[in-house]
Amino acid sequence: MTGKTHLACGIFIGSSLSIYYGEDIFTTFTIISLCGVSSLVPDICHFKSNLGKKIFPISFIIRLIFGHRTFTHSILFLFLIYLGLNSISAPEPYLVSILLGMLSHIVLDMLTPRGVKLFYPINKSVKLPIVFKTGGVVDLSLSTAFTVITIVIWWKDIYSMFI
Ligand SMILES: [Zn+2]
Repeated sequence: MTGKTHLACGIFIGSSLSIYYGEDIFTTFTIISLCGVSSLVPDICHFKSNLGKKIFPISFIIRLIFGHRTFTHSILFLFLIYLGLNSISAPEPYLVSILLGMLSHIVLDMLTPRGVKLFYPINKSVKLPIVFKTGGVVDLSLSTAFTVITIVIWWKDIYSMFI
């Protein structure tokens, strides 16, 4: 999936989470930002992605060592991030936002023909029974759908700000 679709999905999940946790505006903003950024993080192995370009040459080195859609798209990676966040006692809403943002990326990539190495270091590509081309109509529709749902989620709040 394209970066846009990943980001739109991350922001949608972040919006849902912030409503679930029902926190103040600062926490809401932090949850959405964390989830949005995390939804792009697995593509740090892809040095031509938006995030990859920003952290070049780190992305290039990760790509060289692990390859694309391997380690950073695996359960092992999620588990290590979880351990890291746990060790610094990250508050639950932030921890959940980061993990769900990354998980959403992996699930969306499982909807593409190439799949992901979910069980890395086991070298087997995992994909869902239905797959779609990256940058195709379904990819674009998904990103539009996530954006529309997010606007619907916030509509009441945005509306009440101007009334
Ligand atoms: Zn990816």
